[in-house]
Amino acid sequence: MEVFKYPAKEQWPELLKRPQTDQEELRQKVVQIINNVKTQGDQTLIQFARHYDKVELDSVTVSEEEWAQASDSLSLKLKEAIDVARSNIEKFHRSQKPIENYIETSPGVWCWRKAVPIEKVGLYIPGGTAPLISTFLMLAVPASLAGCREIVVCTPPNKEASVHPAILHIARSLGITKVFKAGGAQAIAAMAYGTESIPSVYKIFGPGNRFVTMAKQLVSMDGVGIDLPAGPSEVTVIADHTANADFIAADLLSQAEHGIDSQVMLILTDETLISKVQQALEQQLQTLPRAKTARLAFQNSRIFLVENSAQAIELSNAYAPEHLIIVTEDAEELAEKVVNAGSVFIGPWTPEAAGDYASGTNHTLPTHGYAFSYSGVSLESFMKVISFQKISESGLRAIGRAIMELAEAEGLEAHRRAVTIRLDKISKLLAKD
Ligand code: NAD
Repeated sequence: MEVFKYPAKEQWPELLKRPQTDQEELRQKVVQIINNVKTQGDQTLIQFARHYDKVELDSVTVSEEEWAQASDSLSLKLKEAIDVARSNIEKFHRSQKPIENYIETSPGVWCWRKAVPIEKVGLYIPGGTAPLISTFLMLAVPASLAGCREIVVCTPPNKEASVHPAILHIARSLGITKVFKAGGAQAIAAMAYGTESIPSVYKIFGPGNRFVTMAKQLVSMDGVGIDLPAGPSEVTVIADHTANADFIAADLLSQAEHGIDSQVMLILTDETLISKVQQALEQQLQTLPRAKTARLAFQNSRIFLVENSAQAIELSNAYAPEHLIIVTEDAEELAEKVVNAGSVFIGPWTPEAAGDYASGTNHTLPTHGYAFSYSGVSLESFMKVISFQKISESGLRAIGRAIMELAEAEGLEAHRRAVTIRLDKISKLLAKD
């Protein structure tokens, strides 16, 4: 990781740049994949599975046998871990249920909103380099809680040309039956436009690599909803003299091991930590199975030494990390000053891995600077809020003049008449009485 000591503010934008890819080349490739799925459906999914996932599929559908064997093939320990994570994710997401407010904006004018589940949703569960069982929990639990009628799941087939049994085990426990073996941009296209086996949905959720993220953005231009652009993972750690270098190294590695395009940023206020963290990283890399991936991700990553914690948080806000870990004396105070981040982890005992798996917060979060404007996935992401209104005669009389004036100012006569025609009727009715 390259080290930058006391960088001047003018240098920040350059130093905070994300790894860039040729977006046009990527777009063209993904457009081609989407078109193939549109015209050849399942056949394209089977061809791409052969090409990218190196497996031969007879069908993208999970067989009865695979469903039947799933739960038995899991260890009791893994099932218990899934139960702990699921319970916390459920608790946290259930608490996000939108409140319905019934408001009388003017006498006789009632307005309210009602949250309803999105009827058909698609969940993409990455599986290229790691089977993200946790991502399935993060998406399937809120989708079920929200009450989505049809939940469609796509995930790349594993080496056995199957789906990870934990995904099937969780799906069964949540009553989800539509799980398909399809990965990458082609899976997103399948859920957007439908194939012989895979039903089309109204909104697609889930993180993924750059092909998946580009596909989501492209299908969203065709009227399919998407949660957010959740691409290659990132973490920023802000640490001072109170922080433990081994903990910091472990947290940086837990993001770097995701993929070579992951990015980790370390912001320090204590110079002595630089070498301590570097040593700890080297030591932990020796025994890390995905060390090669992590080392490549470190090529995109940086260490900053800054004046004080105020400057550290300013730098982090200027980057808008997906995950932000704060391990400083004044961690809670600093956390109050966060304005751009996907999810924040406070203090030495709150590793980012906790939020990835089991604390209850959602780990599908905005990356690549989208945390400037997007939030992570929540219960509300699986719902849409419909607004309602009911106006009485007196209510229309109360706001009628304002509506007519505004309609006239906009030159929209039919709008104005929709009110005058009613007010005339009300006047006649009143005259009769
Ligand atoms: P993935 O499932 O996203 O992608 C695998 C699929 O990509 C393959 O099945 C294949 O179909 C397709 N693919 C592979 N190479 C291709 C190529 N050259 N051309 C076209 N298609 C190709 O799995 P992954 O690759 O492991 O990526 C998962 C990503 O998700 C990681 O970058 C990780 O950091 C990210 N992630 C993000 C979040 C978040 O909330 N932001 C959470 C978890 C994971």
